[in-house]
Amino acid sequence: MKKILDSILKNNRLTKTEAVELFLNTPWTEMVQAAHQKRIQLNGEKYASYTVFKTLNYTNICKINCNYCGFKCSEDSKDAFALSLQDMEEAAKDCQANSINQVLFQGGVNPNLTLDYYLECLNILNKKYNLYVRGFSPVEFIEFSKIFNIKIPKLINKFKTAGLCSVPGSSAEIMTPEMRELLSPHKPSAELWCDTMQAVADAGLQSSASMIIGSNETIADIVQHLEYIRNLQCKTGHINSFILWTWQKQTDLPVRHVSGVEYFKTLAFCRLYLDNIKHIEVSVLGLGKEIGEIALNCGANDISSVVINERVLNSKGLTTVQEAEEFIKHAGYIPLLRDFNYRLTQ
Ligand code: SF4
Repeated sequence: MKKILDSILKNNRLTKTEAVELFLNTPWTEMVQAAHQKRIQLNGEKYASYTVFKTLNYTNICKINCNYCGFKCSEDSKDAFALSLQDMEEAAKDCQANSINQVLFQGGVNPNLTLDYYLECLNILNKKYNLYVRGFSPVEFIEFSKIFNIKIPKLINKFKTAGLCSVPGSSAEIMTPEMRELLSPHKPSAELWCDTMQAVADAGLQSSASMIIGSNETIADIVQHLEYIRNLQCKTGHINSFILWTWQKQTDLPVRHVSGVEYFKTLAFCRLYLDNIKHIEVSVLGLGKEIGEIALNCGANDISSVVINERVLNSKGLTTVQEAEEFIKHAGYIPLLRDFNYRLTQ
């Protein structure tokens, strides 16, 4: 396995067959050492970055019904909500008052909301209050395209004109048919997800990619998922970063505990496989500070974010810029504040 690791560090690409063999036969300590070397090659060894944004969940009503999701609500639930345009104005003002200039605009697929609603939300946030808006995901574009009877590229361009600045590559989880069936049978296939991400790139919008482990996935599922992302990036070059999440239990769907060792080994493996994606994030928000600190030495070079107003996840994270900077310094790195697209902002 040392030969394969040495080859990767000489910039040779890991094949799918080698990857499975590597994962199964490499001790986690050797995997993370190699990934840390790759991190140094791509991002240096001095810095670790973070960003700051407010999450704006505009509705929790969703017709997709993913098996793992505890956020979604039916329309008649007492907990259901959809923010009004007035709420959007208030949220934008709140961002300005707290010197936050980035918003992650996310929600369920609510069939009652109109195309004009989305366009007006983007207009308020971006044009009126000058906020950078990262929003939606491939699954929303695919569903909106059906609901509003509009082709996906045209829809994305309309959103861009209204104020959408970039799109997270979420709603991927692990994109093999078996895992889709288990986790989110009504979400699009890998092929449709990739085609939609291509349309995002064609519209000139930057993006990200992710994977979630801690279910029934096999190493073959993981490699296939990473292969979709690496191939997509070869074609588009618009994926700035990759983030590895673990499932948080939200419903009756069983999720398994992912040990620190499994997380670090898988993160390191992702760093080595995704040779064409520059940044690897570890979510301190989702995984906590202890995992976050070690992960910065296992291939990750970014701690994701200080997130304000997160409702989808139970935050274990950092809530102020000062906390993020102290955390990164404590881990042995110099903190860099970046924006959603990895442009440095200090
Ligand atoms: S994960 Fe997203 S798409 Fe799936 S049910 Fe929840 S809100 Fe809807």
